[in-house]
Amino acid sequence: MTDLLDPETPFAVVDRSQLDANVERIRRKLATFGVPLRLHVKTSKSVDVARRVFPEGPGPITVSTLAEAEHFADAGYVDMVYAVGIAPQKLERVIALRERGVDLAVLLDSIVQADAVAAASRRSGERIPALIEIDCDGHRGGLLPDDPDLTAIGSTLHEQGGELRGVLDHAGESYFASTAEARTAASLIERSAAVHAAEALRSAGLPCPVVSVGSTPTAFAASNLDGVTEVRAGNFVFFDLVMAGIGVCDHDALALSIVVTVIGHKHEKGWIVTDGGWMATSRDRGTADQSLDQGYGIACQLDGDVMPNLIVVAASQEHGILAIRPEDEAPLPDLPIGARLRILPNHACATAAQFSAYHVVDELDETRGRAIIATWPRSNGW
Ligand code: PLP
Repeated sequence: MTDLLDPETPFAVVDRSQLDANVERIRRKLATFGVPLRLHVKTSKSVDVARRVFPEGPGPITVSTLAEAEHFADAGYVDMVYAVGIAPQKLERVIALRERGVDLAVLLDSIVQADAVAAASRRSGERIPALIEIDCDGHRGGLLPDDPDLTAIGSTLHEQGGELRGVLDHAGESYFASTAEARTAASLIERSAAVHAAEALRSAGLPCPVVSVGSTPTAFAASNLDGVTEVRAGNFVFFDLVMAGIGVCDHDALALSIVVTVIGHKHEKGWIVTDGGWMATSRDRGTADQSLDQGYGIACQLDGDVMPNLIVVAASQEHGILAIRPEDEAPLPDLPIGARLRILPNHACATAAQFSAYHVVDELDETRGRAIIATWPRSNGW
């Protein structure tokens, strides 16, 4: 057995007991509504992480790439939504997955895409299910719930060979909702936009069995999910500093961190230099516009405590610059060359994507926290 002092740095660590606690938190939340989770696997892209969510066997998942869909299909997952608008050229891969027995639904918000899905369905001899994307907050794609194109797209799918499976929205603006009230409001808007779009389709005589909503901030803030058939969330497995910054979790809930090594000092500048540059943390600066800017991440002791004053103030490709945060007066900790510490990431999905595997610890504490109990591979690419 190895421990956190062994692998070459930088590497990604998952705290399995914290991951389990995060899973339990969403499970309890959704249980109060009786609405199932469709886990978004884009954050971890790991079958082993998904197994902590679905210990009883493969459950419903959301994917953000077809590579994720193929990776999870190889592990026996058969119920998937590909929740990024479908590019017609990708439909052959969708068909190939469906021919393997995967019930993969695609997402669209235009007649052009509906035509393409209907044509691919006729070609393959099987109806390809599609969800219509609804725009609930102007964040990116989707149709407004009262857009007349909604029923036109629904009819195209339904009547020309595809399958109209339902509607889907995602409150992307909730990542900027820094109060519990604002997140609850975002959740209500996300729900009502999806439910209204579903009603519009049904009133036009079209089927709409699935009403899919979700994001991590809105999932935890939900107060009413009437009419919703599933909640998609993924970030919650690891959480990150962006989620902590808006109040969805605290720093202790972060289950993903990056182990780095001190490689130098610039005493006159108050810097500790590490081998954790942006190739390890990613360039994500998602906390830059929050009330507390965390640079490229907060430092933690290797086996536990967060050092809230010490952040990665700058990063180049393979160098991270640790310093006391600008608004603080604390002395720089004594971290000699060769010392290891962990960095909590701004954006778990982006940071995790820098690595091909996670080293897993059971619990980060001083007595047992350093033992690496497993290595979990992850999928990358498209
Ligand atoms: N659904 C869609 C369409 C998404 O794009 C995302 C995340 O980007 C999610 C669900 C999951 O949200 P979160 O990462 O906040 O859990």
